[in-house]
Amino acid sequence: MATIKPIEQKSVHHIQSGQVIGDGLTSVVKELVENSFDASATSIEIRFKNYGLDSVEVVDNGVGITSDNYESIALKHWTSKLTSYDDLDSVKTFGFRGEALSSLCALADLQITTATSEEAPKGTRLEFETSGKLKSRSVAAAQRGTTVLVESIFKTLPVRRSELERNIKREYTKVLGILQAYAGIYVGVKFSVFNQPPKGRKTPVFATKGNPTTRENIANVFGAKTLTALVALDLQFEMTCTRKGIGMTRIGGGSDKRVKIVGHISRPTVGEGRQAPDRQMFFVNGRPCVLPQISKAFNEVYKNFNVTQSPFIFADIHMDTNAYDVNISPDKRSILLHDQAKLLESLKASLMEMFTNHEQTVPHTQT
Ligand code: ADP
Ligand code: MG
Repeated sequence: MATIKPIEQKSVHHIQSGQVIGDGLTSVVKELVENSFDASATSIEIRFKNYGLDSVEVVDNGVGITSDNYESIALKHWTSKLTSYDDLDSVKTFGFRGEALSSLCALADLQITTATSEEAPKGTRLEFETSGKLKSRSVAAAQRGTTVLVESIFKTLPVRRSELERNIKREYTKVLGILQAYAGIYVGVKFSVFNQPPKGRKTPVFATKGNPTTRENIANVFGAKTLTALVALDLQFEMTCTRKGIGMTRIGGGSDKRVKIVGHISRPTVGEGRQAPDRQMFFVNGRPCVLPQISKAFNEVYKNFNVTQSPFIFADIHMDTNAYDVNISPDKRSILLHDQAKLLESLKASLMEMFTNHEQTVPHTQT
């Protein structure tokens, strides 16, 4: 039998990074955009070159990075957002593991240009080694904020790279779907997306205008006509949060049992040519999430009123941060709801009631 010995550190970093950026281009863009939100940006521009195959650049006007942090930005598990496991329950920022930039160094070429409000219009450009160590810094013109440029994604993982090359259009479409969700949910943030195809010039894909409401954001992203097909979603109910295990109650805390689901959904009325795009976006406290069971519940209730079309759904679930766990998948898009069964039950009942009471509703019985 061969001797058991540790994998060398460099290889461990490569292996783990491939997992953090497990969803390819989607993970890259999501991590960068979330960093911009975490930095309180009110303007975020995403620039794809060749649908992301050549590069992705995210430009924000957030707080910027102070010089004392340059050395640690891309070190694994170095973060400015979380210091101990106990803080995880109350995590409100998107990032908290300090893994994204470190992983990107291992998988791509990463360049960061940043300036704080005191430094602008003079900024600093930073480049990193594969290990995440700072390689160089130089003076560069910069507005307040941070620009992260990621080139040649997966250049160190040939199999992943060729897979990305083969599926780039599909990956790009998936990323746009996620960006639409961020653009929709964030009020007061100007969000714009551009792509520059290999032989063309930079073209806008969609943009929001820093609107005060999600309604206006949706109009910007999906077209103003979409709104005529939608009704406001506003459900409120109580559920019992039974969180078992260690650390269930935070000192001075306790879970708030109120749940509020706000957003927009297609009118349940059949026909009249008013069909919104078949898009379904779910959020938990403003964090875009994949919630298959919640989605199923919505669709099931909707079917009672409209069997022919599936609804446009934009639903943000507001609930106590103790009632779920975001630390279950590397991309943080899956969420563990501690009392899902109860939530689904209450959700279905109140959605049913909302549609039943809606004046436009024409109940449709399945036979
Ligand atoms: P995390 O987001 O989990 O902290 P990251 O690797 O994504 O880990 O980022 C590491 C650190 O770099 C962050 O904690 C933050 O301090 C800083 N940072 C990253 N992106 C930005 C940005 N766009 N603006 C300001 N600071 C940033
Ligand atoms: Mg992050």
